[in-house]
Amino acid sequence: TPLSQIRNFSIVAHIDHGKSTLADRLIQLTNTVAERDMKAQLLDAMDIERERGITIKANTVRIDYTAKDGLHYVLNLIDTPGHVDFAYEVSRSMRAVEGSLLVVDATQGVEAQTLANVYTAIDADHEIVPVLNKIDLPAAEPDRVKEQIEDVIGIEAHDAIEISAKTGLGIPDVLEAIVTRLPSPEGGDPDAPLKAMLVDSWYDPYLGVVVLIRVMDGTIRKGDQIKMMQTGAKYGVDKLGVFRPAMEDVKSLGPGEIGFFTGSIKQVRDTKVGDTITTEKKGCEDPLPGFKPSVPVVFCGLFPVDSSEFEDLRDAIEKLALNDASFSYEMETSAALGFGFRCGFLGLLHLEVIRDRIEREYGIELITTAPSVVYHVYMKAKDGADLELIELHNPADMPDPSKVDHIEEPRIKATILVPDEYLGDVLKLCQDRRGIQLDLTYAGPRAMVVYDLPLNEVVFDFYDRLKSVTKGYASFDYQMEGYREDNLVKMQVLVNDEPVDALSMMVHRDRAEQRGRAMCEKLKDLIPRHMFKIPIQAAIGGKVIARETLSALRKDVTAKCYGGDATRKKKLLEKQKAGKKKMRQFGKVDIPQEAFISALKMD
Ligand code: GDP
Ligand code: MG
Repeated sequence: TPLSQIRNFSIVAHIDHGKSTLADRLIQLTNTVAERDMKAQLLDAMDIERERGITIKANTVRIDYTAKDGLHYVLNLIDTPGHVDFAYEVSRSMRAVEGSLLVVDATQGVEAQTLANVYTAIDADHEIVPVLNKIDLPAAEPDRVKEQIEDVIGIEAHDAIEISAKTGLGIPDVLEAIVTRLPSPEGGDPDAPLKAMLVDSWYDPYLGVVVLIRVMDGTIRKGDQIKMMQTGAKYGVDKLGVFRPAMEDVKSLGPGEIGFFTGSIKQVRDTKVGDTITTEKKGCEDPLPGFKPSVPVVFCGLFPVDSSEFEDLRDAIEKLALNDASFSYEMETSAALGFGFRCGFLGLLHLEVIRDRIEREYGIELITTAPSVVYHVYMKAKDGADLELIELHNPADMPDPSKVDHIEEPRIKATILVPDEYLGDVLKLCQDRRGIQLDLTYAGPRAMVVYDLPLNEVVFDFYDRLKSVTKGYASFDYQMEGYREDNLVKMQVLVNDEPVDALSMMVHRDRAEQRGRAMCEKLKDLIPRHMFKIPIQAAIGGKVIARETLSALRKDVTAKCYGGDATRKKKLLEKQKAGKKKMRQFGKVDIPQEAFISALKMD
């Protein structure tokens, strides 16, 4: 195919605005997939993605389309992940294509992820075609949304295409616009040394690692010996092909083309998104610019509820890591929780997805400790020496504070879009989380606020709080901004005078008392009463800053309540037995699994 008849594009949208449905319609209308094989949201392959309606791994499909000009075009759609945790992957895969369809729900308008994703596309020099979706709904306001796109994003929108991905209305116009309004790839030379970008990779149980690539220059052929320029790894190309969306073999891929190869690559870890692929002999000299590996920013401990399942957990984690290079893990032992793993994630959603998969696909019940960010702890140095930096992944490992010079924490720049009437609550929430307001503007009836916030204040329950104070009407997105010093201390929790490591956390000194009190009150409600009195304390160093006491259980209470009814009593006992499994013993005290998460939520 000549370059002039290739179009590579992605679809950018806020979650639920109809990206996957539109992709399905494009595939369907071009008969890329036989009708009987069509299932909703074809591109969201993994079950969990389908259930949650999110696309995590970038997927791709090659579509053949005969345009109104009578020519045959090859359209390559890359479906990028739609969530902030995967921002780096999104920004890389955007560099593999020349244009984007900007899908905006005509009943909702521009949201935070619309902005974040479209700015990534603009950064990648994309031509953008705005598409207003869901115009079949009575609440659709295409004219207002067009205006909003122009005001807020600053791109031309009068010729936005009005569609319903659900009914199929307007889809032919989208296909024509891809051909007429998006540029073809710039002229690469098929005979030049190979230069291809690694766009994505994943583990396939039959083929090993599958690598998605975009060829910039030169030609890749089956049987080639290739190397990855950043990692230095070398492989033979066993299988080369394209997705339609099922795999279809091809003999070669030339400039402008998107496809995949396999080559007995065992681990996804060996394939870094953004790496440059060339041939081992007569390869290109310079790699593609801007490569940086994505690093985990949120860490937490995962422990099996049933400690005999530790080996099963190890197995599950190793298998998941094969398919997810951005997820890290190492063994951890906790006095309270026994053997488990300290795991690193790109963000909170990433954490949730991995945790859910372990529980569902491997049937292992987990205790998840409080998520923590990575702190930079600078140790005091002898005269003249440089301060030693320790990357603290786990508050339990905090060194002796008297030896610490200062601590830095990661900060983010958060963008929140919210209807006017909730603005006050959002500002208060951000303020409470130690935010610094950077900007406040209006986009029609919505306000857009930009805040500098500590990531640590966001990883836990910020999304939940934001959703609840705005009744779900706010949208949120963030990017990492780097590290800054602050007055941070480790707060410990003692239950019945025993420190519970899994509940340790780093807090700002000024918030410590408040946080400690809230934590003790929560735990008092979460821990069941025992036959003895249980003190619950929060402490910094040796100093107790908050305290609650859980009173002792009177022996006759259960007997009295459930004395008469035999079936009810049996049910209660069964429930207690099930509950018991989810409890962990700390000294003499049983703490239920939920306590580790719930105790850290702030109201
Ligand atoms: P994504 O998160 O951007 O991939 O969004 P989806 O394609 O999963 O769509 C989100 C929801 O909106 C689903 O329930 C779709 O059925 C629905 N939806 C998508 N397009 C339309 C449309 O044009 N009209 C209506 N009424 N619903 C739509
Ligand atoms: Mg989707």
